[in-house]
Amino acid sequence: MRYNKNLNPNNMGDYSMTYEEQLRIIYSYMIPPDVTMRLDCPFCNHKNTLSVTNDDNRMIWHCFHASCTARGTEKKRMSMATIKKIFNTEPVTHEDKFIIPEHFKTVYSNEKAMKYLQNNNCWESYVWRRVDIRYDVKQDRVVFLIKEFDNVRGAVGRALSKETYPKWFMYGNKNVPFKCGESNDAVLVEDCASACAVSNVLTGVALMGTSYNDSFDKHLKQYKKIFVALDRDATTKAFDISNKLRYRGFDNVQVKMLEDDLKYYDTQQIEKIFYDRKTNN
Ligand SMILES: [Zn+2]
Repeated sequence: MRYNKNLNPNNMGDYSMTYEEQLRIIYSYMIPPDVTMRLDCPFCNHKNTLSVTNDDNRMIWHCFHASCTARGTEKKRMSMATIKKIFNTEPVTHEDKFIIPEHFKTVYSNEKAMKYLQNNNCWESYVWRRVDIRYDVKQDRVVFLIKEFDNVRGAVGRALSKETYPKWFMYGNKNVPFKCGESNDAVLVEDCASACAVSNVLTGVALMGTSYNDSFDKHLKQYKKIFVALDRDATTKAFDISNKLRYRGFDNVQVKMLEDDLKYYDTQQIEKIFYDRKTNN
């Protein structure tokens, strides 16, 4: 942007706008893509003298009034989301943020919760802090917190009595899977307890059911190998999921047939199931 140094000082306020300031104003109009608009110029205040084009990859503006120097071409480097954030035209939403409710207490406060974890091979992953588990006093559930990096994104609660329905309850966001473990290989399992149970050997990823949520894709990209290991009665589903993953670009997927639910196996048995041939890698 060039500045006109000979401007009438009375108008300096508007005319002396920096390129950045102009850009901010231009963007604040939120001109739709592929549209050119004529507007009253906010820089010189003349009627209908400003032309703004929102091109595929450029924002172009130009004032036709002889006395006005407002013009510029800005190559778009920012996504619309970034732009919105910068110009703060709408509040940044934190729909993914999950606030842990007050009534989630330590699992040590409930014997049934502790028993459940021990009986389902989750206790070890809990004491080794691979997973954050709470007890929901209100719903009488053992609750597995879903984390992404260090942020809590949601939670999944397992009912501790037969009277509580549903058996599994999803709190908050459903598009981030529950994961447990730090291994390079992952296994898709049906629920959080199974994910914890395998976490000594592999990273367990809970599907929370027997179908695949497409938004899990980005949470699986980092793994070398992806196993699909559902209960025996869901073998067809396991193959469906594996096919779907292949179709979605994962070429490292393998179905593992199980005799029983993974949460009833101990570490040695799990190692044998997945890395039968010998030493794990
Ligand atoms: Zn102008």
